[in-house]
This record gives sequence, C-alpha cells and structure tokens, in this order.
Amino acid sequence: MADQNLMEKIISLTKRRGFVFPGSEIYGGLAGTYDYGPMGVILKENVERLWLSMFRDNRDDMFGVDAAILMNPKIWEASGHVAGFSDPLIECEKCKRRFRADHLESLGKCPECEGKLGDARQFNMMFKTHAGAAEDDSATVYLRPETAGGIFTNYKNVVDSVHPKLPFGIAQIGKAFRNEIAPRDFIFRLRELSQMEVEYFVKPDDWEKAFEEWRKMMHLFAGAVGIPENMVHELEVPDTDRAHYSKRTIDFEFDYPFGRKELWGLAYRTNFDLSAHANASNTELAYLDEETKEKFTPHVIEPSLGVDRTILAILSSAYREDELAGETRTYLALSPKIAPMKAMVSPLLRNKPELVEKAREVRAELKKVHPAIAWDDNGNIGKRYRRQDEIGTPFCITIDFDTLGEKPELKDTVTLRHRDTGEQERLTVSQVVERLQTALE
Ligand code: ATP
Repeated sequence: MADQNLMEKIISLTKRRGFVFPGSEIYGGLAGTYDYGPMGVILKENVERLWLSMFRDNRDDMFGVDAAILMNPKIWEASGHVAGFSDPLIECEKCKRRFRADHLESLGKCPECEGKLGDARQFNMMFKTHAGAAEDDSATVYLRPETAGGIFTNYKNVVDSVHPKLPFGIAQIGKAFRNEIAPRDFIFRLRELSQMEVEYFVKPDDWEKAFEEWRKMMHLFAGAVGIPENMVHELEVPDTDRAHYSKRTIDFEFDYPFGRKELWGLAYRTNFDLSAHANASNTELAYLDEETKEKFTPHVIEPSLGVDRTILAILSSAYREDELAGETRTYLALSPKIAPMKAMVSPLLRNKPELVEKAREVRAELKKVHPAIAWDDNGNIGKRYRRQDEIGTPFCITIDFDTLGEKPELKDTVTLRHRDTGEQERLTVSQVVERLQTALE
C-alpha cells in the first residue's frame, strides 16, 4: 500500500535530524541529487562497512578495487551502454513535461495536463562530458552509469597482481550517474547514486551454485542492516525485461512507502563483459587453470546493491510513532550496529560541574567500546531523549546527583534508558558498558 504521508514524515525527519538534505538546497535544489548530513554520513558509512565486511573482508576469495569514475569511452561502447543504456522517453505535446513511457499507466494522455503525448523514443541515460580542452566528440567521456565497468577493466590487473584462484570476486563501492528521465521518491531514484557491487568470476558450469550463494548472502545482508525479511521479495525477471547482458536476474524488491520497488539486483552476466572487453581492447582476458591447463573466459555473477535505496529501506522500516508518557513520539528503531550514535551520555544539569565531569568520565568509558557516543546537555532531559529517539540512538545514559553519592547506595550508578520502550534502569557504569558491548556484538 502506498503511504505518501509516511514518505513526507521520513523526508521531514531526515532533514530535521541531519540525515539527508536536498542537493544544492540554497539555490533551489537540483533534481535527482541529495546530500547526506552529519547523521546520514555515519549511517551510510555503517551500511558500507557492514557490506565490505560481509561481501569482501570476511572472505578469502574477494578483493577490492576503487576505479576512476571517468573511463575511456570505448568501455561503454563495448559493454553495450552507448547503444542500449536507455529508457523510453515520452513528451507531452501540450505542457512539454517528459515521462518514462514504461512508468505511465496509459500512453493516451498526459498524467499532468491531459494533453496529447508524443511518440516514445529511446533516451540514453549516461551523463556526457568532455575530457581536456577540446569540446568535440573525440573528447567525449561519460560519468560511469554503474561501478561494474571499473571492475571488468581491472580483471587482468587483479589476476596479475594477486593471482587469485577461481572462483574469486572483485568488490567495489562508489558513485554512479544516471540521467534518469524522472528522478523521484526521495533517495530512491537519483541521478547521482552510490552502488556496492561484486563481480564474482566462476567456471562456466559453476554459475548456478555461485548464484545461490550470493542470493543467500543478500538476504543475510538485509537482516544484518535491520531490513525486515517480510518486506523483501524476490522477483524472477522475465527474459523480455532482462538487461542485454544477463541470462538470469532476480530483483530484490522492497515494500517502500510508495509501493513495492527494486531494492537490489542479482544477475548472471555470463562471460558477456569480459569477452566484449577482450575483443574491443584486443587484450586477453582469460583465466588459465594451473591444474588442467585449460584457458577460458570466466562467467560472472553480479550482486548489485544501491546504497541509497538500502538507506531508504532501513529508514522507512525503522520509522515508528507511539505514545509514551502521554505524548506522541517518533523514533527510529535502527539496529544498534548501524545506528549513527550507539548511545548518548547526558549530565542531568549542564551548570553543575561535578555532574558534567562525571558524565565526561562515563562517556570516555563508553567510547572505549565504540567511538560514536553522543553528548547532549541541551534543554530538559525529556527533549534530549526525544532528539536521540529520532536519530535512532539505542541507549541514553543520564548522570544525576545519585551517581555522585547523594543516596550512598546509588553511588556510581547511572540511569540507562532504552529507546524502543522508554524503560529506564539503574545500573553501574560497568553494567552499562556490558550492555553496549552485547548490543553491538
Ligand atoms: P530501476 O529499474 O529501478 O531503474 P535498474 O534495474 O536500472 O533500476 P540496476 O541497473 O540493476 O538498476 O542497478 C543496480 C542497483 O543500483 C539497483 O538495484 C539500485 O539499488 C541501484 N540504483 C539503480 N538506479 C538507481 C537510481 N536512479 N537511484 C538510486 N539507486 C539506483
């Protein structure tokens, strides 16, 4: 069910609390661009780090690259993007608005002004620019439309430098650019986006096994970032809808507030890319099996995950409103692993140096567990809790006069407040440290 109201609330919360801002906002914005703010960058880094640990670092068969965004344009000719990376564009003859033909319910009338729609034509989505001082066609370069290109073109460099045994893969996180006809739905359809991609190279007969392994890994990753399993749905993409390079694709769809839409993709790209680049560049991009002495072009499984769509799935599934102490409150039920702040420490009163000093000590202890421990001494304690709720901070720790020994039996204890329930417990600092450790394990 589409819930536009929920989208508006998420957009407002993420701006208010420093997660996501409209791009170029003080100049009226730029369609299809958004900027991540102080909380958003940490959330994004946490998502990317978790992906790196699961898809690259905790495995012996995975290697990383960080390729240039600008690449020789011949790459995009060989990969088929110059000829075929396009969407059907349709323009209203009356109001001149442009739409993606495959996103319109009917091709009869303009959805905005009911004017007559023109004929659909293919619109290439690659951003073009010029390298160097000349501005003619010979200087045309493209901003990469997917990070995969920089992986395939480094296949030989990786093989020659680290000598991996098949099967092995190359992982990369980075920006990609698509001149989407109609950017929309907040950070769902952007013109400048981030992708986390793997190209996993296998013997031709082994593709199905690898496909299944990465399929499971994608579900595990959804769980790890706290995306509820029941909101993720696999869609087997039919032959007619698959990208030109793919023999099998599964779209991982998510129940966004505006409907069920693609979150990630998993594709079997055969040996299309390596063969095409080998032909076009006149370079051998084969693999020599040392044991059998057999030489062949590896086939490829590609799990491709959009960072921004992942973040939107996390935010929209974590958004909650409830009644607490007679007031309506909003909070983000983020998993502690990806929450930007793991805990907040607060002295009950900011103008009592002994409380502030003790609170700083407690914060220093917690920072030994994790550096992302917030400090807030602004406004009354209820307001501080509400702010942290909206950021999704799992724990708030308050230092009061009892901590200092006003009631001797409570000396060196603090109040630990839990985000989701609002419940509070009186614990020693070392117990709080343990709680935090357990939550982050
Ligand atoms: P769609 O059909 O929604 O346009 P796509 O099938 O073209 O997406 P892919 O080419 O498979 O997308 O790209 C891989 C991943 O990159 C997607 O699953 C998504 O997570 C992300 N992605 C693609 N296009 C965008 C975009 N315009 N904005 C944000 N993320 C995107």
